Formats: sequence, C-alpha cells, structure tokens
Amino acid sequence: MEKIKMTTPLVEMDGDEMTRILWQMIKEELLLPFIDLKTEYYDLGLEHRNETDDQVTVESAEATKKYGVAVKCATITPNAARMTEYHLKEMWKSPNGTIRAILDGTVFRAPIKVKGIDPCVKNWEKPITIARHAYGDIYKNVEIKVPGEGKAELVYTAKDGTVVRETIHEFQGAGILQGVHNTDASIRSFAKACFNYALDTKQSLWFGAKDTISKKYDHNFKDIFQEVYDTEYKEKFEAAGIEYFYSLIDDIVARVMKAKGGFIWACKNYDGDVMSDMVSSAFGSLAMMTSVLVSPTGVYEYEAAHGTVQRHYYKHLKGEETSTNSVATIFAWTGALRKRGELDGIRELAEFADKLEKATLDTIESGRMTKDLALITSLENVTVLNSGDFIKEIRRTLEMGVS
Ligand code: NAP
Ligand code: MG
Repeated sequence: MEKIKMTTPLVEMDGDEMTRILWQMIKEELLLPFIDLKTEYYDLGLEHRNETDDQVTVESAEATKKYGVAVKCATITPNAARMTEYHLKEMWKSPNGTIRAILDGTVFRAPIKVKGIDPCVKNWEKPITIARHAYGDIYKNVEIKVPGEGKAELVYTAKDGTVVRETIHEFQGAGILQGVHNTDASIRSFAKACFNYALDTKQSLWFGAKDTISKKYDHNFKDIFQEVYDTEYKEKFEAAGIEYFYSLIDDIVARVMKAKGGFIWACKNYDGDVMSDMVSSAFGSLAMMTSVLVSPTGVYEYEAAHGTVQRHYYKHLKGEETSTNSVATIFAWTGALRKRGELDGIRELAEFADKLEKATLDTIESGRMTKDLALITSLENVTVLNSGDFIKEIRRTLEMGVS
C-alpha cells in the first residue's frame, strides 16, 4: 500500500514521561506505516526545555503560527519537586500557558464517546464541549501575602496620568491579596472563537459567569459576548438553527446536569480548568478527553487533556507493566492530521484520520481496552491490555479495515 503524502509539515511538540513513551509507539505503529509523515519536530521534554532556557517552547508556538496546525504531547509543568528531579536552572512556566499566550487562543475540550463507557450522568447522551478562555484572570495574577495591619488599594494610572483608586480592604491583621486582569481584546477573541466553533460544529453555545457579584469584571465578559453575538453572529446562528444564551454560572451548572449534551459550554479561564476535569471524569475517564487550542486567526494546536501520567511512568521505569490509555493522544494526532488534510486539500489524510479514530473506538467496543476503561465499562468479558498491546490491537483493527 502506498503511503499518504503530505505537503505542509505538522508542528510536532514532543513531551514528557509516560505520554512521551506513548507518543513514540503511536508514531511507529499507527502513523509511520501509513503516512509519509512530515513534521517539524520540537522537543518540549523538560530536559530540552531546560537546556534551551525554554526557548524551544516559544519557537514551537511561533512555528504553529507559521504552519497553522500543531500536535502536542503532554508536558511537565515544573514545581519544586521537579526542580530537584530534573536539576532545573529555573522553574520554567507551563508550556501550555506559554503557547496559549502566544497564540491567544481558546481551548475546546470534548469527551470521546464510546459504546460501553457510559457517563455517570445518565441523561448526557451527547458530548459536552468545554470552551475555556485561555488568557488572564488568576493565571496572570499578582499576589501579596499581607503581613499585618494596613490598607490595600486598587490603583490604575492612565497614560495621561489620571488616577483611579479604590480601597480593597483595611486590614486589621495578616491576610492575602490578589490582583487579576483581563483585556477587552482577549475577551472579544474568546467570544469569536466560541461563536465560530459553535457554527463549525452546529452546536448551541452556553456561557455562564458571575455578573451579579462581579458587576464590572464578569459583567464585562457578558456584555462583550452579547455585543459580538448581536453584531456578527445572531443571523448566522438563527440560520443554523442553534442558539446562544448567557446565564449565571450557578444556573448553567444546574442546567448542564439536567441536559442531554450536544452543546458548547463557554467558561472563564478558571471555570474551564475545573469544569473540564469534572465533565471528562463524568463522561468516563480523563484519558478520553480531547483538547484543541484555536486562535482567533484560525491556528490549531491539538493535544490530550490529561497530563504526563507520572505514576505510570515510574512503574514503567521500574520495568513494571503499564496499562496507560493512549486514546486522547491518538485523537490529538487524528485531529491535527484531519485539519492538515482539510487545509491542504488532501482527502486521503482526512479520511485516514477518520479510519484511525474508528479503529480506536472499534477496538474498545470489541472489548479490548486499557485498565482505566476496563474498570468502568458496562461491556462483559473484556481483555485488559498493556500500553503497547492496546496500540498494536488498534493497528490490527485498522489494517483489517484498510485491506
Ligand atoms: P495526569 O498525568 O493527568 O494523571 C493523573 C491520573 O489520572 C493518573 O495517575 C492516572 O490515574 C489517570 N490518568 C491520566 N491520564 C491517563 C491515561 N492516559 N491512561 C490511564 N490513566 C490516566 O496528572 P498528574 O499526574 O497530576 O500530572 C502529571 C504531570 O502532568 C505533571 O507534571 C503536570 O504538570 C503535567 N500535566 C500536563 C498537562 C499538559 O501538558 N496538558 C496537563 C495536566 C498535567 P491512576 O494513577 O489512578 O491510574
Ligand atoms: Mg486542570
């Protein structure tokens, strides 16, 4: 069989620990035998980030802007323990944070639905996609640990010298302080990314914030969304038969629990961080959640929503068998390949992505799966596979379908 040719390279961002091992296996078993894979490779493994003073992360994001599509492996976000473990020069920032800041994107996370893995919320028949604003709020905060009595103020100095000043609190004793911000430009591109994605996928858009309590900050999000909707999207939404609505975040949460799914839930940065883990675990497993960062200029970066699965990696290092689920990482590749195929007009590439996804789901539905899924499946007589064998079984299913 002739391999599928590519014209533009994918930006390939390699990563850390167990997902780095899976990355290699996926390429060898599921991609390289079928595609003349063209990638521009960036090693975002922590060692190499440290060697390059994290420049490699910036370069990979710049390359993504240039080519338009990237696929990323999970990476370690350093903390104190990692400083010692990897002898780091600095506690490098989260690569995802750096990439998001450069691409100014919105992260869309959707669970992968498969027969036999049923959501714990019985009425969720269709996936719920979380759209997470990926800029600002507490992720760009400034904090002070207040040592004792004193006055805390919020001060803004305009370019012309005008000062706006508000008292935050008159401290009688020790406490804490936090300053957060966002920009109209970023909120506007968040809104546009959500409306575009809703139209693309023909799903309604829900957005919730806390404007009753946060009368300026959260209210600004609500107002910008409404303005962008009314001026640019209302008619398109009506024509597509989908809707946009805003409500208080608590009301949205209550509605989500009662809903059937099949919509996009736009969340502020922190809400999206937390809610995507809730939604993915409720749908079955962290390992069954896809994630794509979409920039307002139409640049895409695909990844799995989970981390580097450190606990499994340490087992792997000790020579013990692991049963790590590679589905979300496979879907990161298929998402990127499909998008590349669409952009470059290579039909076979997009079709291959569809086939590989189907082979992955068929393998699970036939009862062959990793341990995390075996623990929660409603299927009977399942075979629990180790990390490598699961990928080999997917290849077998794929080749049966291809030949
Ligand atoms: P994690 O890697 O998501 O894993 C947490 C636990 O979830 C695992 O121990 C495992 O549970 C289960 N799990 C996650 N993915 C799985 C998979 N594919 N197959 C089977 N089980 C899976 O989170 P973490 O251990 O908190 O973080 C590890 C590292 O990942 C950290 O250094 C963190 O900075 C990084 N991280 C990176 C990203 C990213 O690059 N996007 C996102 C999050 C975290 P059991 O142990 O019970 O089997
Ligand atoms: Mg999180």
